[in-house]
Formats: sequence, C-alpha cells, structure tokens
Amino acid sequence: MNRKPRVIRCPEQMHAWAKKARAAGKRIALVPTMGFLHRGHDVLMQQAQTVGDVTVASIFVNPSQFAPHEDLASYPRDLDADLARLTLLGVDAVFAPSVASMYPEGFDHYVTPTALAQTLCGKSRPQHFRGVCTVVAMLLRMTLCHVAVFGRKDYQQWRIVQRMVRDLWLDVEIVGVPTVRDADGLALSSRNSYLSAKQRLAAQILPRTLNDLACAVADGACDSATLLQHARETIAREPQACLEYIAIVDPTSLQPVTQVGLQGLCAAAVVVGKTRLIDNCELRSA
Ligand code: AMP
Repeated sequence: MNRKPRVIRCPEQMHAWAKKARAAGKRIALVPTMGFLHRGHDVLMQQAQTVGDVTVASIFVNPSQFAPHEDLASYPRDLDADLARLTLLGVDAVFAPSVASMYPEGFDHYVTPTALAQTLCGKSRPQHFRGVCTVVAMLLRMTLCHVAVFGRKDYQQWRIVQRMVRDLWLDVEIVGVPTVRDADGLALSSRNSYLSAKQRLAAQILPRTLNDLACAVADGACDSATLLQHARETIAREPQACLEYIAIVDPTSLQPVTQVGLQGLCAAAVVVGKTRLIDNCELRSA
C-alpha cells in the first residue's frame, strides 16, 4: 500500500514543503494538470518518478487560460478520485490550490509568449497560452521543481513552455511525454468525458486522419498542400466533426512548411458537438 500523498492547498505551504525537500537534497519533479486524471496523466506521473526523487502533481483548473465563452465552469472535476489515483501511483505531494490563493487581489503580472502562441491553437485561443505560461511559471516557482513533465498531446503547449523556460532562464528541465491513446486511437483527454457514444465514434476521424497522413509521409509524400487537402476532405466526410484547423509545421518553430522535411508535425483541432479536441502526429519522411 502506498502512503497517501501530502495534499497542499496554498502556495505558501507548497513553497515551504519544496524548500524542505530541496534542503534534504531531493530532486523535485512536477506534473502540472487540471485534474480529472486519466491514464495519460498516469504515464506523466510515472515518467516524473523516473526523473525525480519526489513527485508533485498539481491540480488546478486555471481560469486565466480559458476565454469567457469556454468551458471553465463545466470543466470536469473530481478531486477525491484524483487523490485515490495519485495514491495508487505513489505520488508524494498534490498541490491543489484555490483560485484566490493563486490569483490574490491585485495580481498584475502575466507571461506572454509571442510567435509560438500565434499559430495553431493560438489563432482561435488568442489568450490561452498567456494563461498557460503565467500559471506554469508560478507553479515552477511555487514547487521549486528541478524538472517538469508535460504531454506532447498538447504539443504547442509543451514547445511554448520549453521556450519560456529557456528565454526566462527558469532553470528547470522540461520533459515531453508521447501521447497516450485509447484502444480506438483517440488521445486520452479529460474533455473526452463530454462526448456521447456516437460523438466518440465520430471523433475517431481525428487520430485516423492524422495517422493516415503520417503513413503517407513515411511512404514518401512530402507536399503539405496535397496532404492537407486530402486530410480536410476525409474529415469533411464525417458530418459530426467540424474541422477548426489542420496544419503541417516545423516541430520547433511551429510555422507552416510547404514541404515535409526529415521531421515535421501535423497538428489539428476538431469540434465534435460542443467538444473541442486536439491531436497531433510527428512526421518522419522516408
Ligand atoms: P490537462 O490536465 O489536460 O491540462 O493535462 C495535464 C498534462 O497531461 C499536460 O501536460 C498534457 O499534455 C498531459 N496529457 C493530457 N492528456 C494526455 C495524453 N493523452 N497523453 C499524454 N499526455 C497527456
């Protein structure tokens, strides 16, 4: 039986816990999450345990990364289930702060990424990555972590956080974990809980299209326009899926490329019903 993780509800206590762990010579690994944990999060926790001596999972649905019309209020939450899951995994501490403790009266500073945040999801969510960077910077400082683990399912987020840490000299190692999928190919996501059974079937068009595109690239196709046109036509044949964007980009700059070189990234967002789903696949040419 694993010991229950220490549950920490405010930044001051988190910081004190982290200072103690550091003083004891521990390497602290952080996994930032918004909770409603699933198997994808488990893999991040397990990765954190291999790169750190003590693991902190944060659970915080961060208001500043949601636009007013988005799903902040309805975002799924189940702290008890999350704590049970994190106990089984053997996580050492859970940082689940209140909104008021994270954004106290007079809070006035934000971290704003620029070029990397203006492409892909940034086009429809113009303030999103500013919220993400701000809260991640705060979490990195509050937990004094040496390493933080992110999922490449949110590829753009991972790249932006990597760049923020580099640009601002935050002295934290950022690890990116490959996407964990369900048997039907759908990337695990807390938001999948919004999907009805029928919508879930329709949502499979997203990983299937990305996978077909990656196979075409592996077989020698390299013209982005042709690949994307084919992908758009495939998704258009699924009446319940509305394509927000699909793009082939350089995996570091996230800027569109006309030809897939040795490495590329295809990223897409579709809306099924009211649920916005994102996914991506890394491309390797023949
Ligand atoms: P979230 O709770 O959705 O904000 O996600 C917290 C972290 O888990 C982020 O770094 C995500 O990229 C990562 N994550 C979420 N779903 C998956 C998945 N299916 N595979 C890998 N990582 C994931």
